[in-house]
Amino acid sequence: MNVSISNAAFSFDNMTTSIVAVVTDVVKGGKPVVGYAFNSTGRYACGAQMRNRMIPRLLRQKPDDLMDPVTGVFSPEAAVRAMMFGEKPGGDMERAVAIGTIETALWDALAKTLDMPLHRLLSERYGNGVTPEKMFCYVGGGWYKADETPASLRAEMQGYLDTGYTLIKTKIGGLPIDEDRARIENILGILDSPSQLAVDANCGLSPERALQYAEAFGDLGLAWFEEPVNPVDYAATSDFVKAYIHPVATGENLFSQAELRNLLRYGGFRPGIDIVQIDVPQSYGMAACAANMKMLEDYGWSASSVLPHGGNQMSLAAALGFGMGMCESYPSVFGVFSGYADDAKVVDGYLPAPDRPGIGFEAQAELFSLFSTLTD
Ligand code: MG
Repeated sequence: MNVSISNAAFSFDNMTTSIVAVVTDVVKGGKPVVGYAFNSTGRYACGAQMRNRMIPRLLRQKPDDLMDPVTGVFSPEAAVRAMMFGEKPGGDMERAVAIGTIETALWDALAKTLDMPLHRLLSERYGNGVTPEKMFCYVGGGWYKADETPASLRAEMQGYLDTGYTLIKTKIGGLPIDEDRARIENILGILDSPSQLAVDANCGLSPERALQYAEAFGDLGLAWFEEPVNPVDYAATSDFVKAYIHPVATGENLFSQAELRNLLRYGGFRPGIDIVQIDVPQSYGMAACAANMKMLEDYGWSASSVLPHGGNQMSLAAALGFGMGMCESYPSVFGVFSGYADDAKVVDGYLPAPDRPGIGFEAQAELFSLFSTLTD
């Protein structure tokens, strides 16, 4: 990946990612079923952990140990148990991305084996089996660019509206507060309502500066304020929530159920107002996400207040399969690693649910040709 954009905390100039292909011995149409995944965006490649620990542990298993006795097909949950062998509790981020990416590729293979889209399989396995026909999708943009002008920023945002999105998100926290406020007001000038705009500080604010932002932006009525402070500073998160009052979103940088539970216990997060974000392949994968959704329900949260981080077909499958409220999109920002099926069109803010077996990467020609280099 080589893109020159930045948020309040870091730039993407040298970002890398890992791609995975899981080749099964299931044969369909004369070819083995292969599952694919990549490790989402914002975290670097995790090939070392995969090659040194996770893949050897999986390959050491007897085939029967990875089978689901009920379905007679391989079990992603059993694969995660095998990959966790010998891992010390805590320090989840060091392995959650590697395990979650392989796990997600296994789900792709499993859904293809069962001839169904992954979101339908997830809903049958963990929910009520009913999935929506379409998913609301907001668009993330407004990165700080060296050559940005008020007109270029408005043109970028207008472009999103013109391609069918109705809710847009921009970065915040990378300028002095009064300049950032002018930047947000510039965007609000082309929107019908401030509820069409969310802002994302990418954990780039100190607790003190976050409170200044809460005061400076609290009157605008924005859709949500995302990741004001360090993701595991739950006290600072709670202070921000109290000071800001309007919806706050965070969670894409939590990697385990224990971390998410701490957010619910200590982060001041309010069911029905705030938004929990989960990056599925980066936090142990789909089965872990199902367990997190169950825990959220136990804490009084509805699935509609959860959205997956990522802006890709893996997160779309999670959003549709777990009944989440929306998903996100980053058209052409992260190269082949962003976006949905090549023929998917956003209409009035909604993306159609894909109908292909698995995650549906086969419908993204450029990304799929990259995946194919692993098996050709
Ligand atoms: Mg974010």
